[in-house]
Amino acid sequence: MKVLIVFAHEEPRSFNAAMKDMAVETLEQAGHSVVVSDLYAMKFKAVADGEDFLERRDKHFLKRQLEENIASELGTLAHDILEEQRKLKECDLLILQFPLWWFSMPAIMKGWVDRVLTMGFAYGGGKWYDQGGLKGKRAMLAVTTGGPEPGYSPRGINGSIEEVLFPIQHGILFFCGCEVLRPFLAWSPAHLEEAARTALLEQYRQHLVGIESLDRVPFHPLAHYDKGMQLRPEFTP
Ligand SMILES: Cc1cc2nc3c(=O)[nH]c(=O)nc-3n(C[C@H](O)[C@H](O)[C@H](O)COP(=O)(O)OP(=O)(O)OC[C@H]3O[C@@H](n4cnc5c(N)ncnc54)[C@H](O)[C@@H]3O)c2cc1C
Repeated sequence: MKVLIVFAHEEPRSFNAAMKDMAVETLEQAGHSVVVSDLYAMKFKAVADGEDFLERRDKHFLKRQLEENIASELGTLAHDILEEQRKLKECDLLILQFPLWWFSMPAIMKGWVDRVLTMGFAYGGGKWYDQGGLKGKRAMLAVTTGGPEPGYSPRGINGSIEEVLFPIQHGILFFCGCEVLRPFLAWSPAHLEEAARTALLEQYRQHLVGIESLDRVPFHPLAHYDKGMQLRPEFTP
């Protein structure tokens, strides 16, 4: 299997970097090929703007999704976007590795999402959710937190981790057609003893060893919704 790891941490000696290195080693040992997009090292441009288009349909008013649609068709997106889309097209599994920042991903990774998952490429024209442009690919989050696990439980102060990750797992990955694999959460590594951190890395290794049989995060396919975009009664809990 071909794996693309998109990695967002500014410090090469961070726990996130150790997880990324562990993933590369484990997956390659298992016979998979791995490509890493190290966004900070690449100085990836995080801001979506008019420079993302080599040509514009309308030079006076930037209507982003319209320009994305046209540029995705014509191949006139900026070169760094095209390069990331090429990696994405080739991969079978996408792993997003990042520290939880403000209940979400760091801005540099959000910029990757904003700029790379263009309309006409990742979604659009009837391609969304289980019929999205990345249909056939799997995706998985590997996330570190500052807070401990109980705070992200259903009664936890932060809300459940499923709720926190819903905008990413459902609103980005599943929206674009990926099957979303159960995420790996590295809870609060900065507050653990060295031995516990080593054990956490080993847990991640085991998660990756079992990647082919990991369960999916359950989301409803389009066919379960009615014309008003509401879940049909027979699927409502
Ligand atoms: C802007 C911002 C917003 C944030 N928002 C949130 C939020 O909403 N929710 C939340 O819970 N947290 C939040 N945090 C905290 C953040 O999620 C954590 O600080 C981060 O996830 C910790 O991961 P790290 O890789 O940065 O840890 P690091 O601090 O890099 O690593 C922890 C420890 O692991 C050690 N280590 C590195 N490699 C290894 C190895 N191979 N083996 C053993 N140990 C190793 C490091 O030396 C370090 O001592 C936020 C932080 C910031 C800066």
